Formats: sequence, C-alpha cells, structure tokens
Amino acid sequence: MNVITRFAPSPTGRLHIGNIRTALHNWLWARNNGGKFILRLDDTDKERSTEEFAGAIREDLDWLGLIPDQEYRQSDRFGRYDEVLAKLHAAGRVYPAYETAQELDLKRKVQLSRGMPPVYDRAAIGLSDTDRARYEADGRRPHWRFKLDHESRIHWYDGIRGDQDFDPHLLSDPVIRREEGSWLYMLPSVIDDIDMEVTHVVRGEDHVTNTGLQIQMFEAMGAESPAFAHAALLVGSEGKLSKRLGSLGVEALKEEGIEPIALLAKLARIGTSQPVEPVITSEPLIRGFHFECFGRAPARFDMEELAALNARIVHQLDYPAVAARLPKGMTPAAWEAIRPNLKTVGQVEDWWAVIDGHVEQQAPAEDHEFLRLAAATAEEMDWVDNPWGALTSALKEQSGRTGKALFLPLRLALTGVASGPEMAALLPLIGQQESVSRLRAAAG
Ligand code: GLU
Repeated sequence: MNVITRFAPSPTGRLHIGNIRTALHNWLWARNNGGKFILRLDDTDKERSTEEFAGAIREDLDWLGLIPDQEYRQSDRFGRYDEVLAKLHAAGRVYPAYETAQELDLKRKVQLSRGMPPVYDRAAIGLSDTDRARYEADGRRPHWRFKLDHESRIHWYDGIRGDQDFDPHLLSDPVIRREEGSWLYMLPSVIDDIDMEVTHVVRGEDHVTNTGLQIQMFEAMGAESPAFAHAALLVGSEGKLSKRLGSLGVEALKEEGIEPIALLAKLARIGTSQPVEPVITSEPLIRGFHFECFGRAPARFDMEELAALNARIVHQLDYPAVAARLPKGMTPAAWEAIRPNLKTVGQVEDWWAVIDGHVEQQAPAEDHEFLRLAAATAEEMDWVDNPWGALTSALKEQSGRTGKALFLPLRLALTGVASGPEMAALLPLIGQQESVSRLRAAAG
C-alpha cells in the first residue's frame, strides 16, 4: 500500500508541542513506509485563520525537518464541499435544521433533567416544506446536520487503542455547516481524506468521537475509511496539559537552545514503550516507529528531561553539523574541546570567548610565585604535542604542588573559571603566547 498521511492544523495559532507531536507521528509513519506526508491547512474558519499563522506553521515544520511532500488548503476547496453536500442531501444523508443555539441548549437541559442523554432529537427531519418556508420567511437560515445511520454500529480497529465501538443512537447528528455558510471541520476533513487518498489518520485521542462520526461519513460517500490511530494526549509533568505546555512552541524551544532533533527524539518516543535516545538523525526514529509501541496512558512531557536529552545530543554533534552556527574562526578542534561542556550549542560563545577573548583573573597572593614560575616555564617550554601535560609535570617537579593546588590556580589563571573543558584540549587553542601572558597577569 502507498501510505499517505496528513497533518491538518488550523492556521489560527502557532504550533505547540502537542500538535508538533501529531505532525511528527504522521511524518514518521509516512517515511517509515516510503509514503507521502501532506500538510493540509484547515482554514475553513475565515475569521480566525491568517496567512501569518500559515507561514509560521510552514516555518516551524521546516525548522523541525518535517517537510511536507504536498500542501493543500481547505479554503481552496469550498466548491468541492458544496458539491458533496448537494449529493448527500439528494441521498437523504444531510438535512437543514433551524433551531437557534438557545433552543438547542434548552432541549439539552430538558433531556438532562429527565436523565436522558443530550442527543439531538432530529426534530428538523420532521419539518414540512411549509414549516421550513415559515422559518425562512422569519429570516432564519438553516445550519446543516449529517444524518447518522442508526442501524449501522460504528466500529474500527484503532492502531493505538485497539477495537473501538460506538452506538450511533447515543450520538447527535453532527452539525457540519453553520447557518452563515461556514464549514465545521468534520465533513470537509472526510472529503479531503477521500480526495487526497489518505491511508492513515494519526491524531490525538480528543478526536476519537469525531472519528466515530466521520466513519459514517466515509460510508455515506461510498468510500473506505482510512486506518485510524489516536495517541493519548500529552500532559505536563504536573499531570495535565498546562497552559504553558499548550503554548510551548518552536520559538520558545529555540530560545532555550533546544535542537530540532532533540525535540523529535523526545516526541517520537514519549508515551511509547520505547526508550528516549539521544539520536542525532531522524533515521532511527523513522525505523523504530510502530503504533503497537504506544501506550494508552497520557504521555508526560518534562522540559527538564528535554534539556538533558538536548545536552546529550549536543555532545555528539560533529563540527560540520554546527559549523554555520559557531563563532567566526572557531576550528573543529575548538568545537570538540568545548562540546562536552555544553548544554546548548549557543553556550559555545562563552567558551570561545575564553579561548579567543580576553581573560583577566587576579590570583590570591599565595599563588603568585607559583604562577610566575608557571609563566616562565610555559614561555621556555617546547609547545608541541601535549603542552598541558608537559607544563603540569614540569611544575609539579619544580614546585612540589600536586592535585588541586597544582591544577586549580592554573585553570583559573588561564580560563578565568574553576571548571570547564579539558585543559589539555584548551591550552593548544589558547596558544603559547596568550597562555604566558594570562599566567603572568594572574601572578600580579
Ligand atoms: N484541524 C483539525 C485539528 O487541528 C484536524 C484534525 C484531524 O487530524 O483530522 O484538530
């Protein structure tokens, strides 16, 4: 089968960690099968959808490396939706209804007070032509509902949730089009999935009931349903989808110095039985993506865990992968020396300043003599191979110092800080002349 998946955000806001995860699942499954990944902009809500958000969604996907093979937008397809609505109307599967929101609300309240499920009573189906004409003469415009087939039990095998069954009697005929003509998401999505030959719909479990309804729409249009998989939702470390998590997007993650691959590595495995691993390409994520590995429990997302994963990934990034983002003049050797000390690539700036910039550190008086000796030794020694090893063993012998008393004053004088990258790697990068002058300066 030629797998086709789609990611269908509404361009009414920026992507956040929850829908980035949905995009990723769809992308991984398409790539895993050599299939196609579609970006479908669900922009039927003309008021709230903007070009700016559409552009931001593309940019975010681009940064993540989740590049769509094709893009559609629902606003280009209104003619097609009208055509399908007319067909479904002729077939008796959609009907106009005239109740106002208040009337519907009242009906629901009455049902609930009688202990009945608040399912729409289909009063609109019983309207005569005269009733409808009267409403229209009153200035009411109809909204449209899809008529569920009560005789057809709804069933699908969900890639993540297993067998799913719904009794259509317990569901209201869904409203598919509003009275002013705008489309709700339900029917256009099904029309698109059919026309775009989508084979797998992967989305959050907040869509499970929609799927029940949509399965009947596929049937009504004589089409086979795609396969469905509904992932358990993402929750914050405190157990619910917090406001912060709901708005945590690419901008904020970039600012935190999170690498796109770190986010993908985390989001691909969170909520599954597979371990989160510090991968540096998406290949292992693609190969390892299987719906059977998903659990049913909410997946906990923790920013600190992501930051820790990010650090492990940064430690493995090769020079060519980061070269464009490094300070000017920084060499592969410098990157490799500094890399183990970074949590984010951006932090490299501070360490590069230690190598390339100006360091001034006054040592305490009891170290002055030792540092003068160090400066003299560094100046005279042969600066090849392993200058740090040579310098420290010479100083150990001459001063009798060992351990911390030997190393710490040197590190402080040479870098200005008490810990950091391996001195053996840093010293050749700082260079002989600069090392000598830093040692001398620290010696007062
Ligand atoms: N626009 C819908 C949403 O963002 C798409 C749901 C779907 O994947 O069908 O929730």
